Amino acid sequence: MSKDKKNQVVIFDTTLRDGEQCPGATMNIHEKLEVAKQLARLGADVIEAGFPIASPGDFEAVNKIAETISGPVICALARLKEVDIETAGKSLAPAARKRIHTFSSGSDIHLRNMMKMTREKNIERSVTAVKLARTFTDDVEYSAQDTTRSDREYLAELYTAVAEAGATTLNIPDTVGYAIPDEFGELVAFLVDRVKVKGVVFSVHCHNDLGLAVANSLAAVKAGARQIECTINGIGERAGNCSLEEAVMAIRTRSDALGGLWTGVNTKEIMRSSRLVSRMTGFVVQRNKAIVGANAFAHESGIHQDGMLKDRQTYEIMVPEDVGLTGTELVLGKHSGRHALGKHLEKMGFSLSEPELDTAYARFKELCDKKKVVYDDDLVAIVQEQAAEVPQVWTLDYMQVTTGTQNVPTATVRLRHGERVVTDAACGDGPVEAILMVIDRISGVSGKLEDFSLQAITKGEDAVGEVSVRVRFESDAIQAKGSSTDIVEAAAKAYLNALNRYLFLKSRRGQKKTPERGIAQV
Ligand code: MN
Repeated sequence: MSKDKKNQVVIFDTTLRDGEQCPGATMNIHEKLEVAKQLARLGADVIEAGFPIASPGDFEAVNKIAETISGPVICALARLKEVDIETAGKSLAPAARKRIHTFSSGSDIHLRNMMKMTREKNIERSVTAVKLARTFTDDVEYSAQDTTRSDREYLAELYTAVAEAGATTLNIPDTVGYAIPDEFGELVAFLVDRVKVKGVVFSVHCHNDLGLAVANSLAAVKAGARQIECTINGIGERAGNCSLEEAVMAIRTRSDALGGLWTGVNTKEIMRSSRLVSRMTGFVVQRNKAIVGANAFAHESGIHQDGMLKDRQTYEIMVPEDVGLTGTELVLGKHSGRHALGKHLEKMGFSLSEPELDTAYARFKELCDKKKVVYDDDLVAIVQEQAAEVPQVWTLDYMQVTTGTQNVPTATVRLRHGERVVTDAACGDGPVEAILMVIDRISGVSGKLEDFSLQAITKGEDAVGEVSVRVRFESDAIQAKGSSTDIVEAAAKAYLNALNRYLFLKSRRGQKKTPERGIAQV
C-alpha cells in the first residue's frame, strides 16, 4: 500500500474533551495526563485536551498536557468569545504544536434560539474569533454546530469566510447524530467543492445517536474529508462519538475500498488505550463491541472454529495482534528486581520517580505472591492506583468477611488514620454491604452507594479485578476505583478511595470556584 500524503486521514482524538464531558466520565488531572500519554503512544495526530474556559480544573489539565506531551498537536476548545479564545491560548502556551478549536453554529434553529444572532452577525463574529485565535497559533480549527440541519448555501458562505480569515481545518459536526451516510457524504462533497480555499483540511465530528457515527465518518472521508474526530471506545455525549478504534481499523482493513486512505495510528496500542480509558472513566466496554470488546476476536461456533483451524482467513478479517492483543504479554515474575521493573515500566511509557517506583515495586511483589504471572495490564493497574493525587486519609489495614448461603454476611474491618487504628464489625445483606457499613461507622461519614461495577482487568482465574463505584456523600457524587485479586477487597478499596476523595474535596472547598460544566455542544 502506497502511503500518499494526500490520502492520510488525520485522527483527532477528543476523548479528553467530548468523551470526558459525558456524565459520569469525569477524570482528574492525573488520569487525563495518563490518557494523553497513551494517546501519544497510540499515534493520535491531534489531542483535544479540554475546554479551558469551562473550569480552572479544565484549564490546568490542558496546560499540564500542553507542557508534558510531545508529538501530537494539543488542541483546546473555545466558543467565539474573546475570553474563551484567550484562555485557550494561555492554557496551550507550553505546547510545541498547538491548535485552537473555536465553534459557532450553522443552523437557523441554533442561531435563532440559542445564540440569538443573525446569519450575517454569525459570519462576522466567527471571522473575528478565527483572527484572534490566529494570534496564538497558525493552526486554527473552526466548527459550525448542527451542519446536518443547516442551509448548505449558508454553510458554504460561512466556511469560506472563516477559511479566508485563517482557519486551517474546517470541521463539519453532526452534533445531534441525525445524518445518514449517503446524505452526509454529499454534504461533505458539496462543501469541499464550494469552499475553495487552498490548503484547508475538512474534518467531521459525528455523534452516534443512530449508531451511524463511524459509517458517517467513513462516508465523509470518501467524499474528501481528511480528518475524523473520534474518541476511544466511542465515549462522548449521549450515545457517544465516532469510535477511534472502529474508524481506524475500518480504514486499515478496507483501504482498498476507500481509495487507499490510511492513518498514522499504531494499531497495536488500541487495546491498551481502550482498557486505560475504560478504567479511568469507569465505563465498561460491552463484550460484543467491535475491535475492543472481549468477544471481538473470539470465534466460538463450531463451524467458525473448524474454518479457523484450516485457515485463519476463513473468518478472520483482522488478526488480534493488529490491535495489540497478544498471548505473550507475560513479562515479569517473583524474581524480577526493582531495576527490571523500572526498565519495563519505562518501555511501557511510564516514567516514575524513585519513591513512586519504590511503592510500585512493593505492590508488584505483593501481587507476585498472589498470582503466578504478572501481565503488562497488571502493571498498568499498579501504576494507576498510585496516580491519584488524593491523600489517603483512611487506609485499609485488615479485613475479614464471612459469607455463605446459611449465615449472615459479617465483616470485620481495621482502618488506619495516621497513627490511629480502629477496628469494628457489622452485618449486612451481602459481604460488600457489610464492609461498607463498617467503613461508615469507623469514619463517621455516611455514603450512599449509587453505582457499582466489577471488571476483570487481566486474564485468567487469578486475574486482578477492578471495582468502580459512585458514592454519594451529601450532595457530592464521587467516582472511584479499587483493584485487587480479591473482589471484595477491591470493593472495600474503591469505597475507601471514594471516601478519601470526598474528604479531600471537602477540605479544598472554598479555595476553588465550582466548575462550570456542560456548556460545550460541538
Ligand atoms: Mn460532540
